[in-house]
Amino acid sequence: MQPFSYQRADSIADAVRLGRDTGAGDVHASTEFLAGGTTLVDLMRLEVMTPSHLVDLNPLRQQHAQISVDDQGLDLGAFVSMAQAARHPQVNARYPVIAESLKLAASQQLRNMATLGGNLLQRTRCPYFRDISWQSCNKRAPGSGCAAMAGVNRNHAVLGVDDSCIAQYAGDFAVALIALDAQLTLQGPDGTRRVALAGLHRDPGGQPHLENNLAPGELITGIHVPAGAWTARSTYVKVRDRESYEFAIASAAVALHLDGDIVRTARLGLGGMAYRPWRSQAAEQLLQGRKLTRDVMEQAAHQALEGAVTHGHNDYKPELARRTVVRALQAAQSLQPRA
Ligand code: SF4
Repeated sequence: MQPFSYQRADSIADAVRLGRDTGAGDVHASTEFLAGGTTLVDLMRLEVMTPSHLVDLNPLRQQHAQISVDDQGLDLGAFVSMAQAARHPQVNARYPVIAESLKLAASQQLRNMATLGGNLLQRTRCPYFRDISWQSCNKRAPGSGCAAMAGVNRNHAVLGVDDSCIAQYAGDFAVALIALDAQLTLQGPDGTRRVALAGLHRDPGGQPHLENNLAPGELITGIHVPAGAWTARSTYVKVRDRESYEFAIASAAVALHLDGDIVRTARLGLGGMAYRPWRSQAAEQLLQGRKLTRDVMEQAAHQALEGAVTHGHNDYKPELARRTVVRALQAAQSLQPRA
């Protein structure tokens, strides 16, 4: 690990000031915020990330670790741990897709450490990104190419990719959030702003080393999930190579508002499949107003994977994703909402 300096932030204003050289998720930023550290410390050990300065946000945990649920929706402090949100009774009852996405992620030890805000910003698991002995990786070394295109790409993304990068967004929580239209509260040098989670992560756009739209010094302090008639009938289905402590090769976050068998509202997020957390509004529109039969579910699943691009080893992914979407729709249909 490269040497670095370290400072603790005592307030958000302090963090914003000390973190003025962070931003956009650039792998080469000279300053990084440290929260749970479950991604950052790994990548520093691997020397993929070599910040010269760390700003420790952990003194802020108490201030921004509240969970509240009311008629307007669910509010989660960005410093809530994954474990704390996963076991919250009202999150389980009224937003089960969120609780399930957290319980199926990482390990209990990591969930105890990792914060919700940090989880949203986790980096790809692309092995060529995480191993500096590979020269070609546009995300780690801009302009160097992409070793995964003609390499081992079994786990790589098929949606939202371009010729610069096919890395998969590895998280689960953000997939549940994007399906439910979550918004983020950001605090930075220009004050506080609220943005849709859907606007946080960037497309590769030929510059995959820039991963998000945070400004220098800006950090996530809160997450809001609007209330809706669909949140209680929601679920997260995750397919992976082993049943524990593994990333998704395909996942689906589904929320439904049903009137008998008729879909009033559907929400659909896809994980393990795209460059960033992915929502299929086209599939949601296809479901709306339809009787939820197996045939309609399959039509929606096909719609959700429209435009998928594969690279050899990951040719199996679109069909796996379609089956995962159908499974998630069936599971949500048979749920008995608790809220
Ligand atoms: Fe790097 Fe992206 Fe290619 Fe992986 S897929 S080698 S992260 S450019």
